[in-house]
Amino acid sequence: MSTMRWFLMMLWGVLALGGLPPDSRAQGGGQAACGCSEQDKRDLESRIAQVKAAIKEYQALISEWEKKEKGTGEPLLLNPTHRGSVQGSVGFRMSGTGDPEARRFGAVTDANCHITIDPNATACLRKALEAHETVHKKACEANSGKAGLFDVAGHIDWRFNQRVVDYMKEEQAGYQKELETLTEERNKQEKNCKKLLKLDVSMQRQLQQSFAQRERLQNANTRLENYGKSLH
Ligand SMILES: [Zn+2]
Repeated sequence: MSTMRWFLMMLWGVLALGGLPPDSRAQGGGQAACGCSEQDKRDLESRIAQVKAAIKEYQALISEWEKKEKGTGEPLLLNPTHRGSVQGSVGFRMSGTGDPEARRFGAVTDANCHITIDPNATACLRKALEAHETVHKKACEANSGKAGLFDVAGHIDWRFNQRVVDYMKEEQAGYQKELETLTEERNKQEKNCKKLLKLDVSMQRQLQQSFAQRERLQNANTRLENYGKSLH
């Protein structure tokens, strides 16, 4: 079978399967990757590094606050100052590890247990943000509505009655879920995107070969024509 014919058959096969999507829907015996662009990979890697840094920082803060609580002999509850200080140290660690070229998006779960995710979040990061916020949503649903009759603050936000340590454990669990999802997405990229890249390379080679062959045929025809002309 000629290279050209082989190439056409292969092309037909690819087209018959629905064509090569720009973002690789290459099915490698599993779910498709969330995205195969260099930027998608960069975003995932950066977020994985940041989330790992957050988990580590929470670990250190949890032991620190547990000691503090033991010293005072009473539960230390979350207030805006404590929350700001905790988020400040974790944010500092996270910003130190992220790739400045990576995209990042915010997500939040409010006191009514409602999740909001930045509408611009990419498919690769959205799922992980959802996994993180779902941990907060569950904690919110389990704890809100428990405030006593005269506990005004508790009615506004259940977190006013949450221990700082419990808040940090919840955040750590959120980042842990996020990390699991990010790693899953990264693995899918490793598995499926490479396959497409390989196929792409072999397609390119075939294309080059078929062009080269066409050129050879054209040259041969021209030579034949010139030969014919020279006979007259
Ligand atoms: Zn969180």
